Amino acid sequence: MRSVARINLAALERNVGRIRAHVGPGVAVCAVVKADAYGHGAVPAARAALAAGATWLAVVTAGEATELRRAGVDARLLVLGPLPGDDLAEAVDAGAEVVVWEEEGLARLLELGRPAAVHVKLDSGMGRLGQRDPEVALALCHRVADAPHLRLTGAMSHFATADERGDAFFGEQLGRFRAFADRVRERFPGVVLHAANSAATFRDPAAHFDMVRPGVAMYGMDPFQQDPAALGLEPVMRWTSALVSVKPLSAGESVGYGRHFVTARDTTIGNVPAGYADGMRRALRWGHAELLVAGRRVPLVGSVSMDSVGVDLGPGARERVGDPVTILGADGDERITAEEIAGRLETINYEVTCMVGPRVPRLHHRDGEPDAGAA
Ligand SMILES: *Cc1c(COP(=O)(O)O)cnc(C)c1O
Repeated sequence: MRSVARINLAALERNVGRIRAHVGPGVAVCAVVKADAYGHGAVPAARAALAAGATWLAVVTAGEATELRRAGVDARLLVLGPLPGDDLAEAVDAGAEVVVWEEEGLARLLELGRPAAVHVKLDSGMGRLGQRDPEVALALCHRVADAPHLRLTGAMSHFATADERGDAFFGEQLGRFRAFADRVRERFPGVVLHAANSAATFRDPAAHFDMVRPGVAMYGMDPFQQDPAALGLEPVMRWTSALVSVKPLSAGESVGYGRHFVTARDTTIGNVPAGYADGMRRALRWGHAELLVAGRRVPLVGSVSMDSVGVDLGPGARERVGDPVTILGADGDERITAEEIAGRLETINYEVTCMVGPRVPRLHHRDGEPDAGAA
């Protein structure tokens, strides 16, 4: 294999356990497995999260809901995203619960005429999806509850700044949602109230309500872009490869397209078969990234090609073709976290695992043992 993303489902389960311990027994955990579980593989991640005590799943598209159902995953499932065109019918047919925030969405559900469970979403300040006016949102709740084939099962919102500790807007949003949630609870006692993503879950117990919706934390990444170990989270993905070429280069020779890197001394250059088509972002040019070769940190050199990238192993390096390369994750005492790569790319850890492309096979395991549940 050119490179492989090793997914430790036992670590994912421990992360879910960590989240459950944090929220306590009265709060349900809805595992967010959208975008192929942030690159980790939706079906195995969903199964592991459920095995660890999550009782709901959330995705964004109808296709993601269908994929889980086809694999036999039958937990309660919420489609968070908008469902244009035929997507609405597909999601409802998959037995997924859907989100409504305006008249148009409700009208389409009524027109569809099929039994469906519905969550009403308040936009408490995200400025994305959701109903801005709490009165209108409450009226939508009533209309859903009154429709013979619809059931009002949830009322929700989403935070814009939960990951910015100390930001006052989080409290404002929480206040707006709480006021709405209190009124929903009074009229519809069985409805599940939920708002917290990973950051809100760890930031403030007042944001937990009946259910939390963690994504990034479940995958062992820190919602605040710090070391995930601080919250007791373990990275789930390791992206590894192996050297396919090792050769000496004299001082003054260049590596890669554009000759952006020129050796300053006689050295040894290794080639790693992971390029931007595999998700190794081209912005990780020389000076912007390091990889682990046999557990040793070495600089990425040259520019990332579509299919490979160079590393400077240094003068007299003893590494050989076939030696292990770690692009993301730990090898021995060294590790490259998603947070480190995100920092170099001026992005967030979420994007790091999502960028690992479909050309990279996912290998699911449990602490190194083959995953018994793997198909
Ligand atoms: C993606 C998403 C989540 C999960 O967010 P994390 O920050 O990954 O925990 C929760 N709720 C909604 C609506 C989302 O879109």
